[in-house]
Formats: sequence, C-alpha cells, structure tokens
Amino acid sequence: MALPATPHSPGRLVVFQPLKRKRCAGCRRGPLSLLVLEEGVPRCLDCADLGHLVFLPRGDTALTRRSREESALSVVVVRFNRRKSRYERQGVLVEEDALARAEARCLADAEARRRRRARDARHRAAEDERFAAAFAAEILRLFPGCPAERARAIAAHASVRGSGRVGRSAAGRALTEGAVISAVVAGVRHVDTPYDELLMTGTPRYEARRRIAPVVESVLREWQEAGEHAG
Ligand SMILES: [Zn+2]
Repeated sequence: MALPATPHSPGRLVVFQPLKRKRCAGCRRGPLSLLVLEEGVPRCLDCADLGHLVFLPRGDTALTRRSREESALSVVVVRFNRRKSRYERQGVLVEEDALARAEARCLADAEARRRRRARDARHRAAEDERFAAAFAAEILRLFPGCPAERARAIAAHASVRGSGRVGRSAAGRALTEGAVISAVVAGVRHVDTPYDELLMTGTPRYEARRRIAPVVESVLREWQEAGEHAG
C-alpha cells in the first residue's frame, strides 16, 4: 500500500496524527500520537529516524515559514478530517535548533516593530506639540488680551489627538479663525462662567448658554480689546 496522498505533499514524507490507536511495527511502542507510514505500516518517529524533530503546531505563519527555512529536514504533520474527507495540516516537525533560530528571528522582528511604534508615537507627540503651539499663537493673535497660560490650556485641550474636539477637525487643523474662536468660547464657557454648574443642576443646555452668553461676550471683548489698547 502506498502512502495516502495528501493535498499538501502528495507522495512526500508526511507524518500522521492517527485517528485510531496504532503501535509501531518496529519497536511495538504505542499508542502513537505521531507516526509515519512505510509501505502502509506504522512506525514511530524514532524508528523512522525523525525522533530528533520537534512539533510546531500550525497557527504562526511566520514562525512556521522560518522554521522550515532554518531546518535541513522538515515534515508536514496531517490528520484526516472524516467529516470533510480530507487530510488537514496540523503543523510541522522541524529541528529543535532551527525552531530556536526561527523564534529568535521572529522576536527580532517584534522588537523592530516595537521600536518603530515608539518612534511613531514620539513623532506624533512632537507633531501635537507643534500643533498646540501654533493654535495658542493663533489664539493670542485674535485675542491679544488672553493670558498666555489660558491660551496654552485652550489650545492643548482643543488639540488632544483623537478627541474629535475642534482642534482636531479639518477646520481646526487649518487654524481657521472660526475654529480658534469656537475653542476659545468653549474654554471661556467652562472656566469663566457658571455654565458647568448650570448643567449640573439640570438647566437645559440652550437655556444655560443663553444665560452665560453676556459673560462670554464680555470676556471675549476684553481679550480682544486688550490688544487694541496695547497697539
Ligand atoms: Zn518504533
């Protein structure tokens, strides 16, 4: 009886995970978890001179590919799926030190990816900082009387990455006057008026905004005019 052909390696050396309890025809050991069929006769890996190989289960594509590249001898392990009537690949047998070298290569890749992510994060942080600084400068250009630390706080708040706040919207990135003004209005509303208390005590949002509007107006006017007085 010939080796049962498998879809993966017809006629080539294949190791089986048997569905039934089998003993080695050579050393009588059993039941075998892995076996080779020679002329239709089951043999354990030791008797088939494959005892030095280790099993790498399927699942990690890169590790599998590299282990086979590193290994002088590698053998596919299959199991018959009765329901689907076909052999399915379960993993590979490779040399132990080949697996170790492959694992080292994959780890080196993971380390490179981690370093790149850290670099990207630093780059984004620097970008955010530049953006917040430009935003603060634009606030001070439009509202010269705005205290510098308030401008920085409003800009930082409006620029938080991924927050969907005004600073991150397309208009905010373009630093349009409208975007800068609405960030300043939001900042004044929360810091210089009882807006948040009104909301906390159940005042409807539109009513709260209407009540604080004069305060917001006067703060904005003061911040604008301070610049005009200064020249
Ligand atoms: Zn044996």
